[in-house]
Amino acid sequence: MTGTPAPFTADDYRARMERAARAADAAGLAGVLVAPGPDLVWLTGYAPPAATERLTLLVLAAGQDPVLIVPALEAPDAEKAVGAPALELRDWIDGKDPYTTTAPLLDASGRFGVSDNAWALHLLGLQKELPGTSYVSLSEGLPMLRAVKDGAELDRLAAAGAAADATYEEILKVAFAGRRESDVAGDLADLLRHFGHEQVDFTVVGSGPNGASPHHEAGPRVIEHGDTVVLDFGGLKHGYGSDTSRTVHVGEPGAEEQRVHDVVRAAQQAAFEAVRPGIACQDVDRVARAHITEAGYGDRFIHRTGHGIGVTTHEPPYMIEGEKQLLVPGMCFSVEPGIYLPGRFGVRIEDIVTVTEDGGRRLNDTPREMAVVN
Ligand code: ZN
Ligand code: ZN
Ligand code: ZN
Repeated sequence: MTGTPAPFTADDYRARMERAARAADAAGLAGVLVAPGPDLVWLTGYAPPAATERLTLLVLAAGQDPVLIVPALEAPDAEKAVGAPALELRDWIDGKDPYTTTAPLLDASGRFGVSDNAWALHLLGLQKELPGTSYVSLSEGLPMLRAVKDGAELDRLAAAGAAADATYEEILKVAFAGRRESDVAGDLADLLRHFGHEQVDFTVVGSGPNGASPHHEAGPRVIEHGDTVVLDFGGLKHGYGSDTSRTVHVGEPGAEEQRVHDVVRAAQQAAFEAVRPGIACQDVDRVARAHITEAGYGDRFIHRTGHGIGVTTHEPPYMIEGEKQLLVPGMCFSVEPGIYLPGRFGVRIEDIVTVTEDGGRRLNDTPREMAVVN
């Protein structure tokens, strides 16, 4: 998995936009309104330079050509987006009301799916212009829009996973004892970039008691001999995400650390083996949780078992109690049970897994045993 993947084409983006419009129609929505962010990148390849108070909005509706409303000053950049040939660009100039520009494109009594990160400013502007419309967040209205990956997307996710694995293998060689968590986190970020990530999203280094806080940011704590250290890192490579966790020990682990690690590893393995088309997302969570509960640590597994990954590092589907969505080949998500003992230490093991016709395939495959570091 080396080299740069073939870029997505205007036809790829056209197909995604058509799929979104059809999915909206099937869900009883009049259309989809997409603000700058991961949904817009996935649908068009267009990422405006920064979040802007000026309205940029992709309007998708079944039986209607896609239209991108864009500020006039940003239209030249939008025209260069790979997906632009599949779009009609409609610009508005400062001094004009962008909502009156948008309104004629929308069913005035329709219910629309809106990307989660759309600014309230813009949604309120549209509602004022079209009081008969109503809205639902895309993660609620069309949660599975980006969940099933095609072959080209899976290749990118696999490449990102391989780069994260290479990062882990290198980090085992650095010194831990006597250095700050933030120093090791810096090493992780450098390695992710070295192995081709253009964006680093997180580098968790949770040493000793800090490991008991799942999203602990690496801080000034100096790592000591005898610490258990949770490592969790990821970002984007060629626009697709990586996210993996391993828990290491500085010097030989003690009996309880080893026991807790064994429980998490067995839970992670059992949840991975449960992955196959047709089971529900919540079943993946249940398998991991049952294992940890039987071992007596159920109340110390304080987060869901997993989350989807794609053009972002956290997205639907979620492996959580209550999520009845069935697994489908091409879905990609984390399997990351953990046990957190406040004031003492934490253990988490995480791989990205994709659903195949007959089971699951890991996109991370470094050893899951607790590595001993220096
Ligand atoms: Zn120890
Ligand atoms: Zn993670
Ligand atoms: Zn994760």
